[in-house]
Amino acid sequence: MNMIFDFIINLFYPSRCVFCNKIIDREKVCCDECNRKAKDYKPIKTIINNTFCVSAFPYCGVFKNAILNLKIRGKIQNADVLSLYMIKAIREYYNNDKFDYVTAVPLSKKQRNQRGFNQSEIIARKIAENLSVPYKECLVKIKDNKPQHSLNRELRKLNVKGVYKIENENIVNLKILLVDDIVTTGCTLKECSKILTKYKNKVLCCAFCKTD
Ligand SMILES: [Zn+2]
Repeated sequence: MNMIFDFIINLFYPSRCVFCNKIIDREKVCCDECNRKAKDYKPIKTIINNTFCVSAFPYCGVFKNAILNLKIRGKIQNADVLSLYMIKAIREYYNNDKFDYVTAVPLSKKQRNQRGFNQSEIIARKIAENLSVPYKECLVKIKDNKPQHSLNRELRKLNVKGVYKIENENIVNLKILLVDDIVTTGCTLKECSKILTKYKNKVLCCAFCKTD
């Protein structure tokens, strides 16, 4: 009976590779080709002023497709797999750093309502679960701004100014892992991390993809 049920499920809802969408065996999370490709990539390390960030992959090809599947096409179940690749990068870059909290770059209320979820938060919660560290909302986005990708480098800096604030002034003297989905110039991470360090927290960042 179960075999017939599995057959029907597979027929109508086949498992797909989280990276390239190719149909794969149900017990796999990605196809062999993407698995090989993913293993070949070394995490991308960036330092934006004093903000450290590690990204699992460049923002191109199947990696770009994987994060857009989650962010734009709402495949939030893919966060399980994406977070595992980020954990690998976090372990490699930050060694055995012990975090007090994992948090995510927040969306404004309006953005969150429009999308229905915050993709960075979904990934951050999975990372927190895997690292056995509590997830906490440490920042709030108090203003709506233009999407960063629509602006040039100079305007991006201005665009994030005064947009975030600390969620609670008791978030002090902690080591925080700040999670974002896609890093471009790093202006958002820098601004978020500036607010948290103002309260004497140490902040280390990670993202799934880094653009050129
Ligand atoms: Zn694939």
